[in-house]
Amino acid sequence: MKFAKRVEQLPPYLFVNISRAIAEKKKQGIDVISFGIGDPDIPTPQKVLDALVDSAKKPENHKYPESEGLPEFRMAVAKFYKNRFNVNLDYETEIINLIGAKEGIAHAALCFIDPGDISLSTNPAYPVYEIGTMFAGGQTHFLNLEEKNQYLVDFNSIPTEIAKKAKTLWLNYPNNPTGAIAPMSFFKEAVKFCKEFDIALLHDAAYTEVTYDDYVAPSILQVEGAMDIAMEFHSLSKTANMTGWRVGMAAGNKDMVNALMRVKSNIDSGLSQSNQYMGIAALKLSDDWYKQNNEIYKRRRDKVVDVLNSIGVKTVKPKGGLYIWTPVPKGYTSAEFAEKLLNEANVVVTPGNGYGDAGEGYIRL
Ligand SMILES: *Cc1c(COP(=O)(O)O)cnc(C)c1O
Repeated sequence: MKFAKRVEQLPPYLFVNISRAIAEKKKQGIDVISFGIGDPDIPTPQKVLDALVDSAKKPENHKYPESEGLPEFRMAVAKFYKNRFNVNLDYETEIINLIGAKEGIAHAALCFIDPGDISLSTNPAYPVYEIGTMFAGGQTHFLNLEEKNQYLVDFNSIPTEIAKKAKTLWLNYPNNPTGAIAPMSFFKEAVKFCKEFDIALLHDAAYTEVTYDDYVAPSILQVEGAMDIAMEFHSLSKTANMTGWRVGMAAGNKDMVNALMRVKSNIDSGLSQSNQYMGIAALKLSDDWYKQNNEIYKRRRDKVVDVLNSIGVKTVKPKGGLYIWTPVPKGYTSAEFAEKLLNEANVVVTPGNGYGDAGEGYIRL
């Protein structure tokens, strides 16, 4: 049997080795403290669970869902965008439900990338942008995120030949793994760049609702003209402690949303309606709920960053996201330092190079 090249090209999924190492330690009876995968340990809110139980009892929710999602779900997303970002969206054409943002992100490449095409993505980055492109037969040109640029893309550094050939640009702020945030002026620059070179602008906004210190994250769709070329991916996973329920959505330019709907409807049959009702309930959670949830993360953030700084590992407090991105001590690679932490302190962290070679020299907690 011969496997396709795309399978042979796949790197091992980042967290597989980490999970193995944790299992090995646990077998030896050792209590491991894991700062590995970004998966909330706070339960899904009761109101959201109630929505699942109630809707699961109704036979109309036992059937195939529509790929694009229930009108009620899309209306709830439109309302969220209006209330939260003051962005007006047509729920019928500019919003689509996803089986988690990851699914939509991976499938988006099939909408824009032909074999040999170029996608622009950051380094480090959430790995799915590159993998989706690879599955579609395309190649990623990486844009390094550097501390000295506040981990923002420097659009002037992109060679014109590459920009002319590029079909997509992937951005993600608040950023995983660096914790960086983007000002509106940066999003404006991104929209201008993508318009100039006719590039589909794909923004992963998985962490806009997980923010600290009164920081309010914008949507890229707030930029004038963004609706001409942009699609934004959202997820309730980190926002409302719902990673297991797989509720995500994309919103933006109607032709882009329609292309994703057409691709998806040929591959999947959408997200179970009961889970969509969970999403509707989550989108209705009060501002106070979000505040208290983010307060828990803020306390943990402060604890971890203060400890790191007190032992001489200079670390900044991120204003958004779930991660702390910090350099490893001199003389270690990311992997060596992560291994040392596991072996000597029973602490699991993610080596920064798992998010791209520009992440070498860093770890993510
Ligand atoms: C966690 C994460 C996702 C995945 O979200 P799901 O809705 O759970 O698929 C997408 N993008 C980034 C940057 C993430 O960290």
